[in-house]
Amino acid sequence: MDFEWNDTERMLAETAKRVVARDVEPVLAKHPPDRALPKSVMLDLYRAIADLGYTGARIPEAEGGSGLSYVMLGILNETLPPVLAFSLLGHESTTKRIQMGGTPEQKARFLPDLIAGKKLAGTAASEPNVGSDPRGIETTAVADGGHYVLNGTKLWISNGPILDVTMVVASLGRDASGRNLISRFLVDREESPFESREIPTIGLQQGPLGELHFRDCRVPKANMIGEAGDAHHSLTFTWLANRPNIGLFGVHLMQKALDTSIAHTKQRSQFGSPLARFQLVQEMLAEMSTSIDASRLLCYRALALLDRGVWCHRESSVAKLFATEAAVRVTNLAIQVHGAYGLTKEAPLESWARDARMLTIPDGTTQIHQLIIGRELVGLRAFS
Ligand SMILES: Cc1cc2nc3c(=O)[nH]c(=O)nc-3n(C[C@H](O)[C@H](O)[C@H](O)COP(=O)(O)OP(=O)(O)OC[C@H]3O[C@@H](n4cnc5c(N)ncnc54)[C@H](O)[C@@H]3O)c2cc1C
Repeated sequence: MDFEWNDTERMLAETAKRVVARDVEPVLAKHPPDRALPKSVMLDLYRAIADLGYTGARIPEAEGGSGLSYVMLGILNETLPPVLAFSLLGHESTTKRIQMGGTPEQKARFLPDLIAGKKLAGTAASEPNVGSDPRGIETTAVADGGHYVLNGTKLWISNGPILDVTMVVASLGRDASGRNLISRFLVDREESPFESREIPTIGLQQGPLGELHFRDCRVPKANMIGEAGDAHHSLTFTWLANRPNIGLFGVHLMQKALDTSIAHTKQRSQFGSPLARFQLVQEMLAEMSTSIDASRLLCYRALALLDRGVWCHRESSVAKLFATEAAVRVTNLAIQVHGAYGLTKEAPLESWARDARMLTIPDGTTQIHQLIIGRELVGLRAFS
């Protein structure tokens, strides 16, 4: 068992840190913290980090991607600001889904611009009546000549308002046994226009989360990806890696919260002594540090297992559940360590706590991960 990164991984982490400090953080700081970045700015950021290989991370080099290991993708997700990493993860996992199930023609048409960061992508599964249980998808796809006609509403879609290409999960009806045939359709916004709106949220506010409306949206039949009814398998495969990566967004936030807290406790004094000397303050710092170590190890363990080809449902869910709940706790402790100042908009602590609060819901809520872990432990499903 080796807890150290190898030379390639260390070099990636160092390069990523440099790029973030030079090309990403100044751009984020220039824009209002509480409004989604314009598309042109997001695309500039994608291009700034293109050399790190994120946009085609899980696609083999032979197919034009960067063929990063899962651990390397994790390193990028721990290093990049979560608001950018969230947008990138939605984009990148969509490119992976196209590469996994796409025909040579679909890959040749969609992947080059997405990998180059010239166009933005996202996957649209969730709906007003469909969240934790994607098998209930209500958006319909009906064959009509050379097209499928899509009707339905998609909610909470990462990159929703600004994406150029979306993989829409829609139902082709039911098979003889009554199973919902949820299937995947690549919708090119120029070719098959649809409306969208931005949904403001409490955290990750510079990231564009949105609602998409498909009303008689005609999509060429050639854009259906994979087989009728196979969407669940493709989504599950990519969620396995997305989950520890979302955990690493939490690790990023927790580390900043701890570093800032340590500095504050050394600099501020009460009762004639630096806060850092008080045992109850040290207890808070110790809990933060322990949570960060545990979260980081659990996330990289899951990613290392995926690199070895292990279909690690339990470890992936353990990592996401633990790290995202820890991020909520740790960023709140950081506010406590800072006293009243931590609650102000003049300090970054409250925004980190709001960002962390966003992480326990997507790609499986905390409760869904508890049920997956339970299922893996006892072999019985509490949900079907
Ligand atoms: C930042 C962000 C980005 C997102 N990006 C995307 C995206 O790109 N594409 C996309 O399709 N979706 C996206 N989503 C949506 C996300 O996948 C859903 O929010 C998530 O699946 C949960 O669904 P829901 O919000 O409808 O909650 P619900 O499923 O309605 O759950 C509500 C509550 O009930 C609990 N619950 C539900 N079922 C059970 C059960 N069986 N047992 C116990 N408790 C249960 C949940 O844990 C939760 O606490 C995103 C969401 C967020 C917050």
